[in-house]
Amino acid sequence: MSGVSPIAAGWKCRCPECGEGQLYRGYLEMNDQCAACGADFTIADSGDGPAFFVMFAALIVIAPTAMFFELIVSPPAWVHVILWPPIIMVFCMWLLRPFKSTLFALQWKHKAEEARFEDPKGN
Ligand SMILES: [Zn+2]
Repeated sequence: MSGVSPIAAGWKCRCPECGEGQLYRGYLEMNDQCAACGADFTIADSGDGPAFFVMFAALIVIAPTAMFFELIVSPPAWVHVILWPPIIMVFCMWLLRPFKSTLFALQWKHKAEEARFEDPKGN
């Protein structure tokens, strides 16, 4: 078991095993293994989890901000149409990489995997 914090490794987008090697080779495309310690990154997959958490974070942060902006400034509707989509997009793209690598690191640390049902008779 490694002593690397999954949160620290996740936010730095580093290998959850050694905390050194880069996790990504593209924006969200992961390396097959760690360049520093050789850990196999193909055994864990965070799936749709990061996208859900990032969308939820965007809702919690941006929706109240937009409502306060409307209450305080009361701009014409087209200002909202132009202003919020790019802010939402940048916010989500900024958070998606660290969220994905953090969830991956947590799966790695806790050895999470798909549920399997064992045959009680052992067949
Ligand atoms: Zn590593």
